[in-house]
Amino acid sequence: MQDLLNKIPLGVRQLIEAMQAAGFECHIVGGCVRDLLAGVEPSDWDAATNAAPEQIRAIFPDSYADNDFGTVRVRMPQNAAGDFLEIEATPYRVESKYTDKRHPDKVEWADSIKDDLSRRDFTVNAIAMGYIKEGGKINIDIIDLFGGRDDLKNKIIRAVRDPDERFLEDALRMMRAVRFAVSLGPDWRVEEKTMRAIAANSRWLKMVSQERIRDEFAKIVMADRGVEGIEILRQTGLLEHIIPEMLEGVGCGQNKHHIYDCYAHLLKSFEFAVAKKFNFHVRMASLLHDIGKPRAKSGEGPNATFYNHEIIGARLAKKILERMKFSKKDIAKIVLLVRYHLFYYNVGEVSEASVRRLVRNVGSENLEELLQVRMADRIGSGCPKAEPYKLRHLRYLMEKTALDPIDPKMIKVNGKDVMEVLNIAPGPKVGQILEILLARILNDPRSNDRDYLLGEIKRLGGLGDNELARIALDAKKQKNEVEIKRDQMTKRKYWIV
Ligand code: ATP
Ligand code: MG
Repeated sequence: MQDLLNKIPLGVRQLIEAMQAAGFECHIVGGCVRDLLAGVEPSDWDAATNAAPEQIRAIFPDSYADNDFGTVRVRMPQNAAGDFLEIEATPYRVESKYTDKRHPDKVEWADSIKDDLSRRDFTVNAIAMGYIKEGGKINIDIIDLFGGRDDLKNKIIRAVRDPDERFLEDALRMMRAVRFAVSLGPDWRVEEKTMRAIAANSRWLKMVSQERIRDEFAKIVMADRGVEGIEILRQTGLLEHIIPEMLEGVGCGQNKHHIYDCYAHLLKSFEFAVAKKFNFHVRMASLLHDIGKPRAKSGEGPNATFYNHEIIGARLAKKILERMKFSKKDIAKIVLLVRYHLFYYNVGEVSEASVRRLVRNVGSENLEELLQVRMADRIGSGCPKAEPYKLRHLRYLMEKTALDPIDPKMIKVNGKDVMEVLNIAPGPKVGQILEILLARILNDPRSNDRDYLLGEIKRLGGLGDNELARIALDAKKQKNEVEIKRDQMTKRKYWIV
């Protein structure tokens, strides 16, 4: 108990105590209690109280009203070091009717914490925790009306009260059940009756706004057990109302190069992206990169073809992501990765020019992610290796082509300056002087100073023609050496020498 008490930040305790001192009830509830009891650091703090929003605001000057549910955000000191944290304090509510299965028709206040806990989605999210002062001693007061602590111990997601009713009130809860099961830790699962209710009610997900679906889906994609999450979505029928296009790949055989059907391949690729902890864009692109295959398929059996599937797939991915209301930025990135996932690369066979073209099409800032999608695609095809040498070689060529060639344009003076300073016409002398200055800058970048260089032009102009030609030749050799050395360093960096 003392242990638990110590894990609650100072500000949270102060908030509860201040509310109690003002004559109100106050408990922390929801995810933070679940996390505290599970030994996980809570990400945010929610409190429930029988005080009205104005009453909460009156107690805490550093607070503001947040939403339609009467939530007040209160800023409290987190520790003695002067950090702050924000606590969301919300008056007790009951579950009101959801005619449209997505918004309560109206918000109804409740008198007791019991009512407030009854409206919550899962037993582990329906535990309240507060303090009771008894004889000068502080005791923790846990209200657990639905067996949340047992379910927490057994790692079970179970609907509070009747699952069918709860999912009819708010169909998003079905996705939340899946999300919690795959993100709370290794052995978590959805309890059987709750799971059956999801399968029976999955069609009601269509009543939920795409924004809410999107946010839950993104959390499932980012979960360590995201692959299982997608599979549960499919098995319960939820996926049909999220990305039905993915189901076109179920049973859609590929050709002699592949051992999995299109859907299984997407899932395998996604599995690699999750295992490697790749970012959201790469995970989504791995999940969608072959989404166009079923529609691009021509023929059956070992010789089936999928021409343009990356183009069809990019278009389809865009449609899906727009429908799900992802941001323009997310959509652009994921679609680009789908569009170019098929880039062709074979050491020695592909020219630097085509690598340059790829870099130009994809943008150098997206290359790393594109390579990650490519690795996921490879592994997802059942290849034991993600082509390490080939991809390293490509990385090398990409960097090489991305490096600016050493180029007279980087000098702070130009041919015109040389001609003006020396009062000469165009001719070999101009090029020679620039070559010498370039070599000097390569040796010491600080010498790329316009005044200094103008002085040098004057000095070099005073040299005899032969001497100038000789120094220029040396300078050119020096520049070539620098270029070769730089290339070797790039090669070594990518382990291809
Ligand atoms: P996390 O924030 O770690 O994802 P959480 O449990 O805090 O998990 P939130 O979405 O922040 O989840 O919601 C806070 C609490 O509000 C939940 O623990 C739950 O008690 C309740 N809750 C949230 N959404 C719903 C819902 N759709 N139906 C019923 N109760 C809900
Ligand atoms: Mg939360």
